[in-house]
Amino acid sequence: MPHYRYLIVGASMTGDAAVHGIREVDPAEPIGLIGAEPHPPYNRPPLSKGLWKDQSIEQIWRGTAKLGAELHLGRRVIQLDKSGKLVVDDRGTVYTFDRLLLATGGRPRRLPFDHEGDRILYFRSLDDYQRLRELVGAGRRFAVIGGGFIGSEITAALSMNGNQVVMLFPDEGIGSRVFPAGLAQALNQYYREKSVEVLAGELVSGMTIRGGKTVLATKRGREVEVDGVVAGIGIQPEDHLASAAGLRTEDGIVVDEFLRTSAPEIYAAGDVARFPNPALGERIRVEHEDNANTMGQAAGRNMAGQPTPYHHLPFFYSDLFELGYEAVGDLDSRLTMIEDWKEPHREGVVYYLRDGRVRGVLLWNVWGQVDHARALIAQPGPFSRHDLIGRLPA
Ligand code: NAP
Repeated sequence: MPHYRYLIVGASMTGDAAVHGIREVDPAEPIGLIGAEPHPPYNRPPLSKGLWKDQSIEQIWRGTAKLGAELHLGRRVIQLDKSGKLVVDDRGTVYTFDRLLLATGGRPRRLPFDHEGDRILYFRSLDDYQRLRELVGAGRRFAVIGGGFIGSEITAALSMNGNQVVMLFPDEGIGSRVFPAGLAQALNQYYREKSVEVLAGELVSGMTIRGGKTVLATKRGREVEVDGVVAGIGIQPEDHLASAAGLRTEDGIVVDEFLRTSAPEIYAAGDVARFPNPALGERIRVEHEDNANTMGQAAGRNMAGQPTPYHHLPFFYSDLFELGYEAVGDLDSRLTMIEDWKEPHREGVVYYLRDGRVRGVLLWNVWGQVDHARALIAQPGPFSRHDLIGRLPA
């Protein structure tokens, strides 16, 4: 029965960052890392960005084992006993711990009509990337379901690699959940100019197989015949292990500012953790790289006995063909949005406000302003349109 001073469930970016955080404080005590995927920790953003351009798989590994962590890969933890301080994996191995980190991330949401099991690629992991790589080829036609982060990035990646893409999503525009309506519409147009068939307002409701092709049916009665289907329709936090063990969960595992769960000596971080953010004044859950890295590291330091409150407001970014952006805070298109365009929908800043307070900032083809945006979100305001126009220079 392996015993670890520090045990981490989840061998992804957060888990790796936690190993670094632990080693900053404690250079020697044993660390165990259990991961369901067969691979050691790797950077996930390149799967939908750099690996489709100039990056190679050799560049994505995070080298976790070099810090002396023992990796147990291809194993899913199925049980946590918080008072016995042990977990059990799906091969029946029992691991005991002094301190545990749950970095279990999220699992892709699936489409309700998908009974085939393997026709739709819910894009999330390195194996998914490799599977998609095997399917692509000149003139191949793909359907991409979902207009969020995965949908918009994978569409651009496939298209730039010589594939035809039909993009289907129920909203009016690409990224409608986060962008102002005008920007989302402009993105539809931009993708169409890149030869993507953008079917906005189309909810896919069924799927059949016809002569080796996959045929998607939409609620409005349209049929789309393709060689392959990729879906990015969001993730659900992998918090069942925690809730079954009696830890407090609320669409994610609830943690305090030191990333402690409701059970002693058990921490959570990354996509799965719901943490208090002082600038926004509420508990949030964030599913982006910067959060995985920064929060994972803070969790590691806390586990190793160096109190490190996590007050960071994470940023995120995306590449959409030649367009790109950075963003910080709460980008919710239901908030009041103030748009400050230097060039409409090509370069500018969008501020997201509630009750006169800035909650989020989108920096569209505007670089080097993330810290300024963060400082603005920390200010109480109130801010008017007049205060914000020109505030963060493009
Ligand atoms: P996402 O960004 O949350 O987008 C999901 C999209 O799917 C939403 O637009 C949603 O529309 C739509 N949708 C929901 N149900 C649908 C259905 N039945 N048919 C078609 N569309 C449907 O999630 P994601 O793109 O799957 O990304 C997964 C996770 O990876 C996210 O946590 C994301 O933050 C992360 N990620 C981040 C980056 C980045 O930071 N650049 C890149 C890739 C992935 P509604 O709004 O109408 O629900």
